[in-house]
Amino acid sequence: MKSVRVVVRVPAKINLNLSVGPQRKDGYHDIATVYQAISLYDEVIAHFGAPESGITVALTGDYIQGVPTDERNLAYRAAEMIANEMRLTPDISLHINKSIPVAAGLAGGSADAAAALVAVDQLLGADLGRARLSEFAADIGSDVPFALTGGTAIGSGRGERLSPALASGEYHWVLVISNQGLSTPAVYAECDRLRQGREISAPRITDALMHALRSGDAPALGKALMNDLQSAACSLRPALRLLLDVGEEYGALGSIISGSGPTVAFLARDAEHALDLTVALSASGVAGQILRAMGPMPGARIIESR
Ligand code: ATP
Repeated sequence: MKSVRVVVRVPAKINLNLSVGPQRKDGYHDIATVYQAISLYDEVIAHFGAPESGITVALTGDYIQGVPTDERNLAYRAAEMIANEMRLTPDISLHINKSIPVAAGLAGGSADAAAALVAVDQLLGADLGRARLSEFAADIGSDVPFALTGGTAIGSGRGERLSPALASGEYHWVLVISNQGLSTPAVYAECDRLRQGREISAPRITDALMHALRSGDAPALGKALMNDLQSAACSLRPALRLLLDVGEEYGALGSIISGSGPTVAFLARDAEHALDLTVALSASGVAGQILRAMGPMPGARIIESR
């Protein structure tokens, strides 16, 4: 059924394990990753715009610097895909309220694309179904299918091929957000440079991590967090190394750079410990904004439709 206004809420992700294989001929890398959706959300509001306005994107929120409002915005591309599928050239207005930091390794742009797929599907009454939306998602970007499903999942290929991860428990994260983002292609290029001349094996997820997730064992998960892009992100931004050490000094169960960074995620024992860690990190004077989030959370969901 068609709607006139649809609001979709979509979570950010962190990577608990990110194993990067050798560079492929097409320039991409095969990866094996474990995603977890966390309670840090963007909202995408879709409604019909003025006649002849086409697709428009407006941004509000804490993180809009450097985010395009034209066809380069991933949410725009998502809306266009659904409209093309319906053989329509509708006037759609997308309003993105951004609380997910940009270029932070939290897949904010991918999240907005997933939210726009869900919102515009509902707005136009397309009813394409989750499987078709996932195909569109994979065409937009590697992290977009996960933003649709959420929870905790294993990603392979470029990260777009998802399979469920057997996971239990709730996890409390403290995130340190850098004031300046890191470009994903730049971090991969640095990773290739650092690995030059080394034999790189196929990407794989460690048994220790999967076991920790299955049993909901936060201390074991903390020890098993692993990211092959971490050295590259630290090489481009040396202050990150210090930050990772500070968190562990203050008793985090583990620490990891999310995706290509520069966000650093610290795992806490529980909500109280997360608060203690937040206080300790801010007192230590580490640069950046400190946020708390829980995972896993569901993926892109309609929260209002009329
Ligand atoms: P990933 O972890 O998937 O590599 P990221 O979290 O590091 O992503 P994003 O926040 O998705 O990075 O932004 C990366 C770039 O994507 C931005 O600098 C911006 O130019 C572009 N972009 C396109 N659409 C959006 C959007 N809706 N929100 C944020 N950035 C967007």
